Amino acid sequence: MQQLLRQIPQVDELLRMPALMQAARRQGHTPIVNAVRAELEALREAIRHGELEQVPSSAQLCQEVLARLECERGYHLQKVINASGIALYTNLGRAPLAKEALQAIQQVAGGYSNLEYQLTEGARGSRNGFVEPLLCRLCGCEAALAVNNNAAALLLALAALAGGRETLISRGELVEIGDHFRVPDIAAQSGTRLIEVGSTNKTHLRDYAQAIGEQTGVLLKVHTSNFRMIGFTESVPVAQLVRLGQEQRLPVVADLGSGALLEAEYYPFEEEPTVPQTLRDGADVVCFSADKLLGGPQAGILLGKRALIEQMRRHPLARALRLDKLSLAALEATLQLYLDSEHALKSVPVLQSICAKKEALEQKAQQLASLIRERTPQQVQLEILPACRPVGGGAAPGQWLEGYTIALSSPSRTAAQMEAALRAAPVPVIAYIREERLLLDVATIAQEELLLLAQEVAQVV
Ligand SMILES: *Cc1c(COP(=O)(O)O)cnc(C)c1O
Repeated sequence: MQQLLRQIPQVDELLRMPALMQAARRQGHTPIVNAVRAELEALREAIRHGELEQVPSSAQLCQEVLARLECERGYHLQKVINASGIALYTNLGRAPLAKEALQAIQQVAGGYSNLEYQLTEGARGSRNGFVEPLLCRLCGCEAALAVNNNAAALLLALAALAGGRETLISRGELVEIGDHFRVPDIAAQSGTRLIEVGSTNKTHLRDYAQAIGEQTGVLLKVHTSNFRMIGFTESVPVAQLVRLGQEQRLPVVADLGSGALLEAEYYPFEEEPTVPQTLRDGADVVCFSADKLLGGPQAGILLGKRALIEQMRRHPLARALRLDKLSLAALEATLQLYLDSEHALKSVPVLQSICAKKEALEQKAQQLASLIRERTPQQVQLEILPACRPVGGGAAPGQWLEGYTIALSSPSRTAAQMEAALRAAPVPVIAYIREERLLLDVATIAQEELLLLAQEVAQVV
């Protein structure tokens, strides 16, 4: 062992190798020195544990160091191909952005911008000023405010409108949104006291009416965006709650979560409340996520009566929860696409995926199938199957969209092996397994990704 340890080359000796000197010129001296030290330390460890019988040559060690550097240099937050069919997959970053939104980010991010500067006056401006008029026009409301995400929007709305007082919420709307986070817990952080009314399955208007008192500040309506109750159930529609609110001079805040910006007829599902309709129903404030059905960047949108939005804008939390310039750039560009509903359907990726016609998906499936077929041996079985997919990410719960999936099985590898290998591919692929077959739903795969996906699939089958 001692003899092996003595054979390990010095750090300087490796650093003088041409390949590493070249790497140092490209990446700077420090990362190379650190990688060499780490490599030699790993070598010593292996020798002490009796795992090595021979010290590798300097050339071999040099290759190892370069591989180590390559590993460290790659970004750890990386692109994946979503072959799950779930358009709003929170763990995969929710909405992919439209090309227009990406261009807007690029224009704004690399240099300075007029984020809070009025070019006409040469004076301070408002970062909200770019998206507010667009939102008001698209949704039909007096005022709008964009913050970090919808959880932030709810927190700010309740802090500004019911901080130190009470907020009424139905027991049927105590939603857990994911990763153990619950809407009532977030709401409570705003400093309002939540008063639960009604029962789990039934809440009547009189339940709210009876709970209203001196301390009541807000009537809160939370859209059950990720679950559905059926059977002996009843909840109070926004329009009814608004009438009670008007009688009692209390604002109604509606947390829609999913944020469908177009009119209902454009979406392929029923029972998803849209933003414009909720405002027409009279909600005083509506909040929702910009990266769910809207298909924009992560943001929380607050819409409604001018005086109420103004109260939120002036609240100290508004500063803590404000939106950054990259998201604002992407949000403005995405909202502009909505100025024409048909244009939005064609250019917002989430809408493309959710509203795709069955025939278009079948065509895409055939295209992917032949790209894979051309690259795989005959023994690999491939079939195009009709498939149903959920929307995901807190929108249209319990409603399934029809489309197509590619089913693969191989004589030499199990579905689980193929699925794991695809997750480890250079551009990882998130597929799924049914009845021992590997499935790729084409609804969430972009046209530009088809060829690369076929190549990676051919590698793993
Ligand atoms: C998704 C959702 C939220 C949280 O929105 P984020 O943008 O993820 O913060 C809050 N309320 C409801 C009803 C939701 O569906």
